[in-house]
This record gives sequence, structure tokens and C-alpha cells, in this order.
Amino acid sequence: MIVGIPSETFPGQNQVAVIPDGVAALSRAGLEVIVQSGAGEKAGYPDSAYQEKGAKLVDSRSEVFSSADVILLYQAFGANPEKGMADLDLVHPGQTIIGFLDPLGSAESIKKIAEAGLTAFSIELMPRITRAQSMDALSSMATVAGYKAVLIAANKLPRMFPMMMTAAGTVSPARVFVIGAGVAGLQAISTAKRLGAVVQAYDLRPAVKEQVESLGGKFVELELETVESEDKSGYAKAMDEEFYRKQREMMARVVADSNVVISTAAVPGKKAPVLITANMVEKMTPGSVIVDLAAERGGNCELTQPGKTIEHAGVTIIGPVNLPSSVPFHASQMYSKNIVTFLLHLVSEGDLKIDLSDEITRETLVARDKEVVHPRLREILGLPELDSSKPER
Ligand code: NAD
Repeated sequence: MIVGIPSETFPGQNQVAVIPDGVAALSRAGLEVIVQSGAGEKAGYPDSAYQEKGAKLVDSRSEVFSSADVILLYQAFGANPEKGMADLDLVHPGQTIIGFLDPLGSAESIKKIAEAGLTAFSIELMPRITRAQSMDALSSMATVAGYKAVLIAANKLPRMFPMMMTAAGTVSPARVFVIGAGVAGLQAISTAKRLGAVVQAYDLRPAVKEQVESLGGKFVELELETVESEDKSGYAKAMDEEFYRKQREMMARVVADSNVVISTAAVPGKKAPVLITANMVEKMTPGSVIVDLAAERGGNCELTQPGKTIEHAGVTIIGPVNLPSSVPFHASQMYSKNIVTFLLHLVSEGDLKIDLSDEITRETLVARDKEVVHPRLREILGLPELDSSKPER
């Protein structure tokens, strides 16, 4: 079986799906690897490093697609709307694609992938179960984003983060408020703590309190009814507008007292909740900074503009997009580990074996045998349920 690693084509993307160590792991499993020349260059992995680990380099993208049985990408097809769909001209039926495909945001693209005869696995649908942790690329990228968000805030803030007692007087520590303590939020808390800030955090999943405190953060208690706020996969549920109104009201004072707000609140498959209004921003001290990690999903601050930095009432509001691309070496290392582990999970005796009794395989498989096979996507596309009695391969 030949595994192909093309260059990423998402505008401004610096990452690569598989790093040289990943090539070594695939080779050890008896797979051949071909890499598009220059694919890892922007992430700090030169062609020579791939060759040393046994990869064959090819000059063009079309060569990768024409030879490979399995293509590994970071952002593919629907997750790369400008350039990704052009790869449909290069694929061949029976080929397997694994990567971020944005299936819930772009179900139509999955339909096209299916029609082209591809087998496709969407890495963002990885179930959040212990067995799948080493394949959980969403967590890896959220870790990188949470870390980087704090550095961006520290860089912009006209204050220092740590408390300092100097001959020139005492410098008070920065006050950081993290909204949403999932993977990105928890990493933001620990990064801000390491820089010496005083950190507070809130999440509507009450279970998070202990995790926040174990990182040295203070959990902000709000008198909100959150018993039903978590679904069975551990994600936050969407709440109604009345809940969010109360939450904004109760958080307003904490936001006003903070020098930095890092917001990461998200609900899978939904627009991010608006938790910071313009009015709340106006009550912050001029010079304060908001880094809105939910920018790509509509933003937690109503003033956020994705990919832009704006100023309102002296407060800087940053809506970063694709932060992992700004730390491409380690973001690629982590993603590579996730996607290679996942591929090896699917491979048995050197060949791809799709076992639908396995939760990891079943939950991530979106297209196969010219059909969109994921029930959630079929529902979005208005397609009837598939006959589950169909034989498995
Ligand atoms: P996410 O990116 O979907 O959301 C980020 C955070 O925002 C979540 O913690 C969520 O509860 C929070 N949030 C949503 N609405 C909010 C609101 N109105 N106010 C405040 N916070 C709000 O989530 P994620 O970071 O990808 O992870 C979600 C959960 O899954 C976490 O508990 C994480 O620990 C868990 N997880 C488990 C595993 C595993 O293998 N067991 C792996 C990864 C993640």
C-alpha cells in the first residue's frame, strides 16, 4: 500500500500532514510513502529528512495522487474551500483520503467526494474516547491554539504578565480571564500561569472546575443552572438565548476587571455563543486585550472579526484564525502523530481493513462505495438512512 503526502494548499498554511518520524512509523508497518517535494519545508522538515526516513520524493502533486492508495492531508476538500476541491481532478476511485474535511460545515463537499468514488475519513469526527486520544487531532490543534493565544495577548498588552518586585517599585500581575475551559482553554490557563498572570476561568460544564484549579486558576462561580449543560460525549450543549443573556450579565464584572480575556467557548456544529457584548468591552480598561479563539466559528465577542485585529473603546480585539499554522513545527509533529496512529489503526497486514464494528472507524468514516455513509451528514443532506445490513469489507 502506498501512502501519499502532498503539500498543503490552504492559503498561508505552513503545516504538513506527516513529518519524517511519521514516515518512519509508516515504513515500519510495511507501507511505502511518497512525499511531494517541499511539503514539509515551511514547517521545518526538509526533503532530505523525509528521504533519510525512507520516503520517496516526487515533484508534483498529481504524481502523489496518481500513485498513492491513501492520501494524508491536514486541510482537505471542504476544509480548504478555495483550493481543496481542485484535488477532485487528481483523485481516482478507490483511493482513501484522511484529513480535516469540515464535514459538518461543508456536507455538500463530502457528497462530491463520495461521488468521485473515494473512501474518506474525517479526522475532526474522532470520538472523544480514551482509546482515541492519540488520534485526536482537534485536541492537538486546540492545545497549540490555546498556548499561542496567550502569547499573542501578552505581546499586545501594554503591561507585563508576572508580578515583579523591583527597585523601581512593584509591578502588579496581569489578570487573565479564560472563557471556556476545554482543551484550548486549559492550555491557555497553564500558559498564562507560567507567565505569571493571575488567572480566572469559567466553563458551563461544572466538571471543569477541578481541572481549572489543578492548573492554578480560579474557577469563577456563576449562579447559572448548568446541570444539563454537557452531552454524553463530554461536549457543551447549546443553551437558549435567555441562558446566554444571564451568563453575559453575570460575567460582565469579571470581564471588566480583566486585562486579558481569552475566549474559547464553542458548541460542536453550532455557531459560537456570543458571551462578550460591545457594552461589556466598553467597561474594560483601555489597553486591555481580548483574544477570541472562537473567531472562526462566529466569535464569542460580538465585535470580533475573523483574521483581524480591531480596537474598540481602547480595547484590542484579536480574532486569530488558523493559529496552529503559526507554530508549524510542533503543530505538524502533533498532527502527524495523530493521523499516522489513526491510519495504522485502520491497517492490518499492510492493507486497509474497514471494520465498522470499531467505534473509531465508524465515527470518522464519511464516504465509501459512492455513498455519504455518516448518519449525521446524511441527515444534513436530506438523504435517507442507509441499509445497515449491507455486508462489511
Ligand atoms: P470545544 O472546543 O467544543 O469547546 C470549548 C469549551 O467551551 C468547552 O469546554 C465547552 O464546555 C465550553 N463552552 C461552551 N459553551 C460555553 C459557554 N456558554 N460558556 C463557557 N464555556 C462554554 O471543546 P473541546 O475543548 O474540544 O473539548 C470538549 C470536551 O471534551 C472537554 O471536556 C475535553 O476535556 C473533552 N475531551 C475528552 C477527550 C478524551 O479523550 N476523553 C479528548 C479531548 C477532549
